[in-house]
Amino acid sequence: MTITRDRLYINGAWVKPKGDTHMKVHDSATGDEIGSVVMGVATDVNVAAEAAAAAFPSWQDTSVEERAKYLDAIAENLRARLDETIDLFMREVGTTRPIATGFQSLAVNLFASHAEIARTFEWQKELPNSTVTHEPVGVVGAITPWNFPLLLACVKLAPALAAGCTVVLKPAEITPLTAFILAEAVDAAGLPPGVFNLVTGTGIDVGEAIVSHPLVDMISFTGSTRAGRRISAVAGETIKRVSLELGGKSACVVLDDADVAEAVNAAMGSVTTNNGQGCKCLTRIVVPRDKLDEAARIAAAFVDGLVIGDPRDEATTLGPMASEEHRLRVESYIKTGIDDGAALFAGGVGRPDGQSKGNFVRPTVFVTDDAASTIATEEIFGPVQVIIPHDGDDDAIRIANSTIYGLAGAVFSADPVRASRVARAMRAGQVDINGMVYDFEAPMGGYKQSGNGRAFGLAGFLEYLELKAIAVAR
Ligand code: NAD
Repeated sequence: MTITRDRLYINGAWVKPKGDTHMKVHDSATGDEIGSVVMGVATDVNVAAEAAAAAFPSWQDTSVEERAKYLDAIAENLRARLDETIDLFMREVGTTRPIATGFQSLAVNLFASHAEIARTFEWQKELPNSTVTHEPVGVVGAITPWNFPLLLACVKLAPALAAGCTVVLKPAEITPLTAFILAEAVDAAGLPPGVFNLVTGTGIDVGEAIVSHPLVDMISFTGSTRAGRRISAVAGETIKRVSLELGGKSACVVLDDADVAEAVNAAMGSVTTNNGQGCKCLTRIVVPRDKLDEAARIAAAFVDGLVIGDPRDEATTLGPMASEEHRLRVESYIKTGIDDGAALFAGGVGRPDGQSKGNFVRPTVFVTDDAASTIATEEIFGPVQVIIPHDGDDDAIRIANSTIYGLAGAVFSADPVRASRVARAMRAGQVDINGMVYDFEAPMGGYKQSGNGRAFGLAGFLEYLELKAIAVAR
């Protein structure tokens, strides 16, 4: 049975959109059609933006406690449908069961954590001559990518609602189904009409209509650096606040006193999490030159140990790419690596053995001396690792910082002082030392062309607030 979504959620009701084309959604492991979703158009965005703007004055006036109750209700409604959202995550994106389970639970928990942040937040502060207050930004246009569809919608929606903003959400075209469950959870929680609105559609059509809309005060965007650039330019026309969470090419720096196996296995675990479809994945391992072969052999052994298959099978540790288009993109990068002369230690072009359908690629390990080559600098967004030699700590820092990105990174060393020096020198928003740490209280976001926004925790909440100073003359 396929899922048909032919209504948009606008102003507290499921409405028939002006757009009448539908986009099919496919199971990434089998290619089977699992659903279809109506594509909205600019007129639908206009109705949604007007509803969100009309709802804003009274929503911002609700008490923090009242908003927290709504957030709790949304979480409860989503929790009741956790299995459904986990199943859709596995099918749409190709995510393995443990990762899908962990991240869908995290998405639900964000509502409680942001309600708590709002409760304990110092909304007003007295200066000698002014009162400084935090107020919600207004109408937020939230635009999300396909790789963690529910989590990345909730990481915007929870802080935005907690802050007192109203929202128009546009999910990615190829993985839109969990956004409808989120809208149903909001609807069942009884939020006032217009506080949350869902408009599906393409980036060019619906996305740009949100970004350019005069009633939208802020764009919260997660996606590619390419689209982030365009969104910044379009939003500039109306001087909107733009919070960007973009791509990455994160380096795992291995110093000469580190346990190479521990570091390489951690980086391989990272580059295969969500099948490499993660912005924070460690996609470059920068190792001492004399440890290059050892690192490559460990990485190749990691690949040998992967169980590739349908993500719903308990035994599977690596699933497919989310779409056929993305499978071809990842394969073309693997081909480029080979053509550019990088040494192939595992994987290559073509489907993995035993996978004749679905969007599977071969997990691949390259070694290259050319830190400026295409595979060493561009975001591939698949299970493709690139190992690069360094000649000392400063050279490793130089290589780590040598792409346009600056989202995340890792350092491995037996010496905490050295590790900390390298972590601080890396131009990236999150750096882990001696292992992958998932701290969702800590801010996540990019330096350089990885963006300018911060998500999660207090920093994620602050994105949705304006500062106002009120001074009394006499
Ligand atoms: P994408 O940029 O192609 O699309 C993201 C969203 O933007 C989609 O909803 C799309 O329809 C919309 N969009 C595209 N062009 C637009 C435009 N001109 N105006 C308005 N909206 C537009 O990205 P993707 O392929 O869906 O996702 C993968 C990318 O997301 C990767 O680069 C990844 O690193 C990045 N990402 C970043 C983070 C982070 O926190 N930094 C998290 C997850 C994913």
